[in-house]
Amino acid sequence: MTVFLRGHHFGYELQRVAQMFFFGEKVEIADGEPEAGQPDGYLFAELDGGELRVSGCPCGDKHYRLLDTVQPEDRQNDVEHKFGVMIYRILSDATGIRPPWGVLTGIRPVKLFASRMRRGEDDGALRAHFTGGCLMSEERFSLAMQTAKAQKELLCRSTPDSFSLYVSIPFCPTRCAYCSFVSHSVEKAAKLLPVYVDRLCEELRYTAEIASSLGLSLRTVYFGGGTPTTLLPEQLSRICETISACFDTKNVWEYTVEAGRPDTITRKKLEVIRAAGADRISINPQTLSDSVLGAIGRKHTTRQTLEAFALARSCGCDNINMDLIAGLPTDTPEGFRASVDGILALAPENITVHTLTVKRSAEMTFERARAELAMVGDMVDYARNAVQAAGYRPYYLYRQNGSLSALENVGYAKPGTEGFYNVYIMDETHSIFAVGAGASTKLCHPVTGEIKRIYNYKYPYEYVDRFETVKERKLEIPRFYGYDKKKIPETCL
Ligand code: SF4
Repeated sequence: MTVFLRGHHFGYELQRVAQMFFFGEKVEIADGEPEAGQPDGYLFAELDGGELRVSGCPCGDKHYRLLDTVQPEDRQNDVEHKFGVMIYRILSDATGIRPPWGVLTGIRPVKLFASRMRRGEDDGALRAHFTGGCLMSEERFSLAMQTAKAQKELLCRSTPDSFSLYVSIPFCPTRCAYCSFVSHSVEKAAKLLPVYVDRLCEELRYTAEIASSLGLSLRTVYFGGGTPTTLLPEQLSRICETISACFDTKNVWEYTVEAGRPDTITRKKLEVIRAAGADRISINPQTLSDSVLGAIGRKHTTRQTLEAFALARSCGCDNINMDLIAGLPTDTPEGFRASVDGILALAPENITVHTLTVKRSAEMTFERARAELAMVGDMVDYARNAVQAAGYRPYYLYRQNGSLSALENVGYAKPGTEGFYNVYIMDETHSIFAVGAGASTKLCHPVTGEIKRIYNYKYPYEYVDRFETVKERKLEIPRFYGYDKKKIPETCL
């Protein structure tokens, strides 16, 4: 499929819109008019004076032609949006696929809601824009609205002098078949682990010095990965103790450790992290079907998930998140519903429902894509309705590039148990200092709004070997914060 362009440069966005309908092939962009006799599999988006035209045969024999006009008040992005709507309309008719987020292609659709809310738009104006103008489904509109409202309160708590700390432990007991993270099986990385923990503790001390010299206040701590509880209790203990010794943790609102894989959770590890102040953990079953667990290469059982959950409760963990994934290989709508119901029966404080990112495949036909969309769509609809009926509310949401049906990942929480960090990582008003391999520090300037990222080496062996460079890069933090504190605004919003 090729989109030809003439008279404008909106190729990037039009490609993204078109790509939502094509899973087995890459949508190409080409300048100029299609040649006479061009075979099907193309669209031609042309801006000619004040007229926008999209025409062509995207698939099959049917020829399409839509027109629109540029209004005097239209800016560049309005014209781009009009082209996107025309392409969406043509491709949804031609393929029978209707991506529920309409023409929104970004991974953080809720940000668009939040910025319009800040400008004072009411619910009616937002509905008109997103469902009418952007072709978003009513369900996604409602989901995004609820999420944006829940986030507002959490974002307001973040002050210009606050920051969060992310600790990266990119190791897991084994690697899951669908993993898209840089995570290393602990067996292969066994020799590296002691020195990795040494370096991590050194980076923590160094980062704490920088934060202290800048007078910043630590608000949330998040251990992610990987699976942090892959580490031995002694290793976890060293890291936790380093944090307690170097950072001022008195005013931390939230301390999360992803315990991820149930087969890594032991009483000793839970005691270590609880003693350090961890008040929120994640236990991620992904599914409660043993056969699906086998198909995705997760070497644990549903029974281990239930035992780990009971153990965590008995250790006093009263804020537990559990992740599920819709669309796992071999899973069925019935199987997924049973997983949702089983998790609801446990009543964790948070439930996060992900949509599997399906790798593009040359064999993916429109028929198969429609069937998968319907099935995964059913799964996420069931989860959304069931968890909301059980009293959970959506509070963070993002989409991943490449997810088959351009669906979403949603964090639901019982009111009052929302994870601050999950919202701050998506937003651009709260700085996150990150340590460890694969971690990236996000700096948000409290005066100018500038965003800067500092990347650590991706792989643990690089991180360990080139640690001096890791430290050098961290010096960007004080340079970035070299602002006049008198200019800091009173509130974040
Ligand atoms: S537990 Fe998560 S990070 Fe680890 S291998 Fe599986 S998907 Fe990847």
